[in-house]
Amino acid sequence: MTDIPRISDFDVAGKRLLVRADLNVPTDGDTITDATRITRFAAGMRPLLQRGARLVILTHFGRPTAGDTSGEFSVDMLRPALSEALGVPVAFAETSNTAAALRQSNDLQDGEVLLCENLRLNAGETSNDFGYATALARLGDIYVNDAFSCAHRAHASTEALAHLLPAAAGPLMIEEIDALSTALDAPKRPSVAIIGGAKVSSKIAVLKNLVQKLDGIIIGGGMANTFLFANGAPMGTSLYEADQVETVAEIKALAAKSGCALHLPKDVIVAREFRAGARARVIDAYACPDDCMILDAGPQALAAFQNVLTDAETVLWNGPLGAFEVPPFDQSTVLLARSAADLAREGLATCVAGGGDTVAALNMAGVADDFTYVSSAGGAFLEWLEGKTLPGIAALSGPAKAA
Ligand code: AMP
Repeated sequence: MTDIPRISDFDVAGKRLLVRADLNVPTDGDTITDATRITRFAAGMRPLLQRGARLVILTHFGRPTAGDTSGEFSVDMLRPALSEALGVPVAFAETSNTAAALRQSNDLQDGEVLLCENLRLNAGETSNDFGYATALARLGDIYVNDAFSCAHRAHASTEALAHLLPAAAGPLMIEEIDALSTALDAPKRPSVAIIGGAKVSSKIAVLKNLVQKLDGIIIGGGMANTFLFANGAPMGTSLYEADQVETVAEIKALAAKSGCALHLPKDVIVAREFRAGARARVIDAYACPDDCMILDAGPQALAAFQNVLTDAETVLWNGPLGAFEVPPFDQSTVLLARSAADLAREGLATCVAGGGDTVAALNMAGVADDFTYVSSAGGAFLEWLEGKTLPGIAALSGPAKAA
């Protein structure tokens, strides 16, 4: 990924940088409940502003219907937080593709910032409409994509637009690509992935790609249940996918061919009901009673997984090992997260994690800051793990089209 142009290499003084950000922060009414996306984005933009860049910021926000005029999805409400994080006032363009927006972008002085209205209020955004992208392109001199989390979508602001202006990756995008490339494309070995979560069916492509690239995979969560079921284990009332037995066989065959060890739990935590504080017990992974469900990996499994990590030089994590939102079924996820964090903190392994649930689990374990890199991207992170080329990244190094 070294061939992607980086905005840090451009002369940005006096230039209008048309920056695709992901400022889709969680909110509760008019309150931003987690401003991490804004503060991380702003940290990368401040040096560019200091070098005399003029910023025109594009983002989506929520999932509005195109043309919605309720104001509910207006990005205007992000302005105070964005302004505080950038350390400069932020002007607002009520549309992203009109003469008024163009005038506002042309009026910007060095170090000034303009935030454009929610891209998804225009139907052309999600349909990757060339006309819409062309209107957006007039707002800038250089296009910067700083939204890795949106790079798996071929939308007007992530794909078409990149062909209409000189294009570059922004600081956050570069950080993300560098971290993921280190962990997946040329990992220090042994390299291990921890793949958990609810269903095998949602991560088939991830598992098939990873078994061919890494030395081992720790399988957890409902996904491990399906692997155990395929090995003949009774499932009681557990979450598992009976129709994925063949997929499991394919993944096992690929793993055997590539010399990738698959690690399944030897013991598990079961309960009769799925609720906080439910009475739970440890049993052999092949002994789930009819009226019980498997909700977490057991202590022996955890110790074995920790042992696998002891030797690892690269750890890649997506998905919890159990139903971690409901204690006591959070234990193996939290304790394995702490083990991985110890390795990262001591500089013994590169530990990269991603996906919404995974970030929540690492935060719960109090170790998100200790990981080498934590990606907040969900879909884009998974598609990267699948080995797919993301359209938003491909477009940055692709050929330019005439506007
Ligand atoms: P995913 O989105 O595929 O990463 O799945 C995450 C979800 O899987 C979380 O909500 C977990 O509670 C759930 N999960 C993990 N293990 C289990 C399990 N053994 N039984 C039920 N749900 C689980």
